[in-house]
Parts: sequence; C-alpha cells; structure tokens
Amino acid sequence: MRKLLTLFTAVCLGLACVAGAQNADSGIDALTLRHMEAVAGTGMVGSHAFDYLAELSDSIGARVTGSPDAQKAIAWAMTTMRGIGLENVHAENWPLWRGWTRGAAEATLISPIHRRLMIDSMGWVGSTPPNGVDADVVRIQFGNLAQEIAQNAQTWAGKVLLVSKPSPQQSGSGDVGQGANADPAIYEKFLRAAYIAHAAAVIGGQGGGKSIGMHLTHTGILGFGQYFEEPVVSIAAEDQDQLERYIEAGKTPRIHMNVQNHATDGPVNSANVVGEIRGSEHPEQVIVVGGHLDSWDLASGATDNGCGVATTLGAAEEIVRSGIKPRRTIRFVLFTGEEQGLLGSVAYIKTHTPEMVNHVAAVILDVGQGPIVALNLGGRTDIVQATMPLKDALKNFGVLRANDQVVFGTDTGPFILMGLPGILLAQNSPDYGNTHHSPIDTLDKVDAVTLTKNAAVQGLVAFWIADRPDRLASPWTPEQTRKSLTDRQQEASLRMWGLWDLIGSGNAK
Ligand SMILES: [Zn+2]
Repeated sequence: MRKLLTLFTAVCLGLACVAGAQNADSGIDALTLRHMEAVAGTGMVGSHAFDYLAELSDSIGARVTGSPDAQKAIAWAMTTMRGIGLENVHAENWPLWRGWTRGAAEATLISPIHRRLMIDSMGWVGSTPPNGVDADVVRIQFGNLAQEIAQNAQTWAGKVLLVSKPSPQQSGSGDVGQGANADPAIYEKFLRAAYIAHAAAVIGGQGGGKSIGMHLTHTGILGFGQYFEEPVVSIAAEDQDQLERYIEAGKTPRIHMNVQNHATDGPVNSANVVGEIRGSEHPEQVIVVGGHLDSWDLASGATDNGCGVATTLGAAEEIVRSGIKPRRTIRFVLFTGEEQGLLGSVAYIKTHTPEMVNHVAAVILDVGQGPIVALNLGGRTDIVQATMPLKDALKNFGVLRANDQVVFGTDTGPFILMGLPGILLAQNSPDYGNTHHSPIDTLDKVDAVTLTKNAAVQGLVAFWIADRPDRLASPWTPEQTRKSLTDRQQEASLRMWGLWDLIGSGNAK
C-alpha cells in the first residue's frame, strides 16, 4: 500500500509540474490542487453519501441521546466507518447526566368547542397525571415574565399556562415572531415557578413564539442540559392562535391534556464515534470533520442532523477512495448530545485536552438539506484571506463566501472556545425551519444531488486544510479567544450556558 502510494504521489508530482505553471494564480499548492481534483472526482462519482442517510433515517430512525436507538446508531456508525476503510475507528464514551424517553402527548379543546389540538412534548420535561388533566388555559405574557411570576403565580394551580406574545393589534408592532425566545434565565425562572405553583402544564415550547410551519410542532430542550418537572409542550401555531382568540374575546378555553414521558434517575451512557485517515507527514496534527449523530424523535432526524452524518461519512469515503493520504490527519467525529447542549463536542475537547494544541480546525455541517454557500470561520479573522483560494476552487459547487462569523448553536462552539477555527459550512436551507425538530424531519426532504455535493465540499475543505504545505491555523491563546469573543458580544450568553469557563481548558498555557 505504501509503495503504491509512493508511486501515485510521484505521478501526481509529475502532473503538478505541468499544472503548477497553468495554475500559478490559483493560490493553492499545485500538488494539493491535483489531489483535490481527485477527491472531488470520487466525491461526485460513486459516492454513497445519500445511501448512508437513507440507512440511518429508515433503518435506525430517531436517535435521542442516551436512548437504546442512539446506541444502535453508534454501533451503525462504527460499522459504516470501518466499511469505508477509516483507521482507528472507536467510540469515546461520555455520561449523559439523565436519560429521557418520550411517551404519548395529546390534547383536546373541550370548551367552547370540541376539537383535537396538535401538541408534542418538549424534551427533558415531565408528565401530567396518568390519565391527563382537564384544565382552563391562562395566558402568560411573554416579555413580562418577571411580573407574571410576582403577581399571578398564586393563581396558576391546576391551570395550563399558555405563554404568548401580544397580538399584532395589541402590540402595534406586527411582531408575533417565529420561535423567538425570552431571556433564557428568566424563562427558566418562570418554568420553575410554574412547577412550584402546581400549574398543570405549560404551552410554551417556542418560548412565546409561534411554532414554525403549517400544523407543525417542534420539540427541543429548554435551556442547556436542564430538566423541568412539569410537562411543557409545543403546540401548532393554528391551535395557539385559536386559544389566543378565545382569551382576547374574554372566553376561557378549557382543554384536556395528557403528556407521558419517562426520565431516568441517574446518568446513561453515550458516545462520540471517531475514525481517522492518518496524515503522511504530520500525523499528530488533526483536522476534525463532523456532524451530530443524535437527533430528536418526532420523525427520523434526516435533516437534523442525518445530513451532517451522511456528509461526514461521504467526505471520509471520497478521500479514502481517492487513495491519497493528506499531509495531516483527518479525524471524522460523529458527536452525540448536541441537542442537549453540545455535550458530545464538549466531551471531545475534554477527552483530547493534551492534543488540542495539535488541532488545526473543525469542519462541521449542521444546517440541514440546503446547498453549502459559505464558510463561517468561527471568529478567526486572521485566516479569512488564506481561504480565498479555497473559495475560488469551490465556486463551481456554489461556495461563494468566506467570513469570520462565530456560531455556537452547533458543535463548532467548543472548538471556537479552544481558539480554533470551528468552521460551520453555512447552507441555504429555507425549509430547515420547518423540518428540524419536527414531525416532518424525514428523508424525502433531502435532495440526493445536493447532499452528495455537500459531502464533496466538506471533504474538500478538510482535505485542503490537511494537505496544505503550511499549517492553516494554530489555537489562539485563551487571552486572544476571550478578547475576540468579548468583542463580538458573546461573553454574557456563553457564561449563561456555562461554556465560558471552557476557554483555556484545552490550550497549552
Ligand atoms: Zn443539529
């Protein structure tokens, strides 16, 4: 194998001499560019990226972190990585503080008219009594939660609390928005107060906003890594509107609601799945390529984040099949616990603390089904210019921009905290708002050609970083990272999520 590789490299070098002159302006090392052409070829011809997504969506389906189905997904990912031919395939265990499983959730409007309502439970929340409750619905003003707690909590016992924004007529602003959240700290306080006040349930999965889409609910966790004892549900926007119309007309809607969930008392196992292509010159230097393996459970998690799993595996496959070893190690990581607050990627940086100085970048895909249109470089303004040749090389895939934007809503976050380019592959995914966390997150929402191109691009971005003659980036010092994130007004939210103190934990001091 080694001999074959050497021969292949020699052939490539020969080509590179000719091509080097032709591509003098490409800005990419001629040999690396030849290698990228080969990788792009195996990425687009013979790729199994969509097959991986079909298997994951239809043979395993939903895979909530810590559940038996998530364990099946972990086993499947290891088998698939081995089948692709990755090296050093293994699971890196980490404990989830508490497991949670969904049971039934149903609601019926019983007054003033009788009609079934569309609800689903949020994740990591409790249940109603076994046969449900009949309860009056009381409106809680979003944006006024502190006052609501202080003045009205004593009247909440046995009631269903509907968190909502004022109607456009009332507010005069037209701002009955989608999924806008209250300050998470005050929302947490409100949910704790609702439990203490013996409220029957809370309709407030979208934190006062309306559920996106037609007749859709969206599940999710409320806050980072937190459990709430009372049932909290997402309701379809149409049903929320109807309840609000009654209340605005001075009527008190009454509903029946039955929500049954199960939470474990203690921790459950989870794991990230890891496989590698070892570097030929600097095997100790690591480029992470990944997406999150865990999903929500109202459908099969095809777009969130089956797409990122499939593109990560597709990227691995295209580089392995090209037969070319990059100079540095490319490590493919399928994280779990993303949906509970980036728990798997935080576990990764903790597990690999001594190695963080040798990490170069992480390349993550987690915006669903749309085409990749830009590289968000995770705050690393200093490398924007260096990526321009890559952006030019990928323009036929539609990758047209590179910027230094930071994104903490996915597994890029912990890498950014380590001072690294946590690169999010930004996508044009207008339908993702409907599909992710909802009952329509299914395979039919994903276009196979777009997914295949995205896998090719994810592999090419990683390969370009891994195969450059010079190292693209080294971790910033903790001081540089803190300053950059403070300048970007990220400090307060990172402190609130308990992530700020991770800065410095993985760096050479
Ligand atoms: Zn996701």
